[in-house]
Order: sequence, then C-alpha cells, then structure tokens
Amino acid sequence: MYLTFYGAAREVTGSCFLLEVSGKKVLVDCGLRQGSDVFDQEDDGFVFDASKIDYVLLTHAHIDHSGRLPLLYKKGFRGCILTTSATTKLCRIMLLDSAHIQESDAEWRNRKGKRSGEFAVQPLYTTEDAENVSRLIQSCEYGEKVRLFEGFEVTFTDAGHLLGSSSVTVSATEDEKTKTLVFSGDIGNSAQPLLNDPVYPTKADYIVMESTYADRIHDPADETEDRLAAIIQSTLDAGGNLVIPSFAVGRTQEILYFIRNIKNQGKVKGHEGFPVVVDSPLAIDATNIFAEVGDHYYDEEARELLSKGINPIGFDGLAVSISSDDSRMINEDDTPKVIISASGMCEAGRIRHHLKHNLWRRECTVLFVGYQAVGTLGYALLNGAKRVRIFGDDIAVNARIRSLNSTSSHADRMGLMKWLDAYEERPERVFVVHGGGDNPEKWADDVRKQFGYNAVAPLFSESYDLLKNERVKEGFTPERRSRITPNTVYKYLLESGGRIGELIKNFSGRTNSETKRFTRELDELFKKYS
Ligand SMILES: [Zn+2]
Ligand SMILES: [Zn+2]
Repeated sequence: MYLTFYGAAREVTGSCFLLEVSGKKVLVDCGLRQGSDVFDQEDDGFVFDASKIDYVLLTHAHIDHSGRLPLLYKKGFRGCILTTSATTKLCRIMLLDSAHIQESDAEWRNRKGKRSGEFAVQPLYTTEDAENVSRLIQSCEYGEKVRLFEGFEVTFTDAGHLLGSSSVTVSATEDEKTKTLVFSGDIGNSAQPLLNDPVYPTKADYIVMESTYADRIHDPADETEDRLAAIIQSTLDAGGNLVIPSFAVGRTQEILYFIRNIKNQGKVKGHEGFPVVVDSPLAIDATNIFAEVGDHYYDEEARELLSKGINPIGFDGLAVSISSDDSRMINEDDTPKVIISASGMCEAGRIRHHLKHNLWRRECTVLFVGYQAVGTLGYALLNGAKRVRIFGDDIAVNARIRSLNSTSSHADRMGLMKWLDAYEERPERVFVVHGGGDNPEKWADDVRKQFGYNAVAPLFSESYDLLKNERVKEGFTPERRSRITPNTVYKYLLESGGRIGELIKNFSGRTNSETKRFTRELDELFKKYS
C-alpha cells in the first residue's frame, strides 16, 4: 500500500496524490498547476501512466484540484471518477470553461506566433476532452459509504469550502491490514455564508492536510455584509457603478447572498430595487447549479429560506447577461448599478470591458472580494496603480478602489488547529500539502511540536509504504521545464540576424536620414550587448 505525492507538494496548486492498494491505482484529485504557463504542463503533466489509473476521488471542483482531469482522459484514462453530486455539476462547467480558455489561448498564441516565426502550440486539452472526462464522473452524497473494490471503501464529508466540497476518508485493506486515510481537501472557513461549517473527521491512521493559510488569522467576517452595504450606498449616491471582479464559482454566489440580505433588510437607502447584473457566462451557469442542488449542501440559514420557497441568492433587480450584446448594453444604460463579473483577478473575461468603461469615472467604485496574485491587473489596481492598459488603451484610474477580504473560503491557522484537534487518536503520520512558500514545512513543524504527531511536508514524487509507515522514495523539487529550449531560443536569434542582414542589403534606396537613424540604433544595440 503506497501513497505518492504528484502535486501540491510544497505548492498551493496542482493537487494530485496516488494511492496504490492491492494492485489498483487510485488518484485523489487531479488539479492544474496555476500561476504558471499551462503550455509547459504537457511535458511534466503526469509522471505515471494515465491509462493505468483505475479511479479518481475528487475533493471539489476548483481547477487546482480538478483541472487536469481532461488531460488524464487525453492520455488514456477511462476509469471512474467519484465525487459528490454538487461537485459533479460544478466540475463539468468549470472543466469546459478551462478547456475553452486553453483553446482560445493556444489560438491567440499561434496567430501571434505565425508572425514571429514561433512553433505552433497545442491546447493542453480540448472541450471534447472535458466533455468526455465529465461522462466518467459518478456521484455520491455526504456520509455515504461507497465500496470501490474489495477492501477499499470511501466516504465524502462536507469540507465547507465550496458547494459540494469534501474531505475524503478512505478505508483500505491489504494483506489483512486495514488503514484509514483522510484527505482534507481544502478546509473551509467556518464563517462562510451559504455553506455548512467543515465536518471534522475524527479517525485516521494517515492524514493528508492542506496548509494554505497556516500562517494567517482571518478578520472576523460578521461585518462583511454591512461594509458591502456601505460601499453600495456611497457609490449609488455618487451616481456611479459598483464593479465587483469576482471568481465565478463560489464567491459570486456569496456576494449575491449578501446583496439579497442587504436588499431584504433595506440597508441601502434611496435606491429602491437598484439593479445588480451578473456578467460572466460561467458565473451564471454556476448560479443556476446552486439553485439545482439538494438542500443538504447548504447551512441552516440558507436551508430555512429554501424551505419557505425563497432562493437565497435570488432577488428583484437581479439580471444576468448571457450574450456579449447584453454585456455591452450594461455600460450604455447609465442607471447606477452593481456589476459582478469575472475573472476575479481581472486577467481575462468580461470584467476587463467593465473596468475600461468605469475605472476612469470618479463616481464609480471597484471592489475586490478575493485574493489578487502578484502580476495581475487586479493586484496593480489594489496596489494603487494610477493608469492601466486595457485592450491596448491607456485608462486613468479615477474610481475608488476598495477591498473586502473577510470572506476567505479557506480555514485560517485557528481553523486548521481545530480540524486537527478533532482526531481522537494519534495518527501514524500527517502529510502536509497545499501551501505556498515555507508554509507546509512550518505547519508540519507546528504539528510535531503542538500535537506531538509525526508530520512531514513531502516533496514532489515522494512515496510512502503505508503498511510499514516508511518513506520508500525520496522526492525532489521539479525544475519547471519550458517548451522553448535554449537551443530553440538561439535558433530564433540566428533567424532574426538573417532578417536584419536582408534588411541592410535592401537599404540602399532609402533616404540618408533614415539610413543614419537605423545605423545609430544598430550601433547602440551592438554596444549594449558586446
Ligand atoms: Zn479549493
Ligand atoms: Zn485548493
């Protein structure tokens, strides 16, 4: 019985763990590494043979846990994927969206690449791969014990992180020895609206746990709704739009829930029935799925509304824009409104149009409701950029920039402590994964010191024999390969040199001043690099 770490090993994204029991191979999660060039992932995609994987257990729909499933299919996987019914629905639309992004990215690069003589890139996977792999997903519900094969049972419990999210408990028997493993998935924040608080597993021989915010204590969340109401009030009073860049799945629905409460309690005065538009195809699909899943995915407050026939994320004045024409109309009509759009970090999607139309207007507000990674447009705005470039235009930032940070969907340090504290008996080992910087190592250290448990932060491809509780293979920090090798880069240079030579030969008919300028620029370039 072996457990090997093929992702989220001293990293936040790319969750992927391989469990081998009695000759069967079971993956837990198959996520995409994010924040890096996805075109590089084909090469370092899977170290194992995808066609030999029998099952995948999926903790939740976020792309860093599910995003390489279509690639797994492309590489020959035809087994069964097991997850909750809510995750099944969300996963399908998220994988299709991810495939679509990759197809259009590849197309854009190839169009650009043709001009500069670069080689064609292939999308990591296609919408067809995403459709095909979605058909392999089978659903279960929280608490249901599912027997995958002789000596291997699985139970999903609510992780309170995203609709349908789970921790997965595996009971595996080999050589008449049974081991219980808990994969935490992403552990939710207990203050999250709509969702239940995370359910704490209490028994495990081995624990694989996340450590995303092991170094952080969140602000109390109870003021979020009032702060949002105040920002809506002041923006509408000024006659501007409130633009909210939001992650399409999860965060958008939370914001809608807050706005429903704000409207219901009349917290915004003088703007009766103010319009709210959701402008992101993925967010609209996700919002519809939120309305379709069973009540048991919701917390008590939301369930109470549902029992009265009230949609917890629906209200008067809520509009969705489906077509890009609808989307354009939003900024043509000058009624002050709330516009929720994706992507959350403003890197792609319709949000960029809304920023272009509203950032220069002093009366508008842009409100960030989620994490902004360094290097994104969202990060630049949040850190005081005065001008930004959107669709080739230089846009002045005159709108107010605000942020609402208290609705994190991850447990903080205290949440992780509580989660671990719930175990009744000492586990044989805790594996710490899914953390950035030195969080995994530090958290493993804390687990050793505070709980006295055997804890490690495994490296990529590190492998353990679970019957012996022994490391059998050392891991390493992978060098992230690029498709463009030094040789290829040098080849481009030689080609470019050839083109300059041709240009010089053809210069004889040009004016003296043009020839002088070109010569001067070439000389400067020569001086700079020689
Ligand atoms: Zn997640
Ligand atoms: Zn995650």
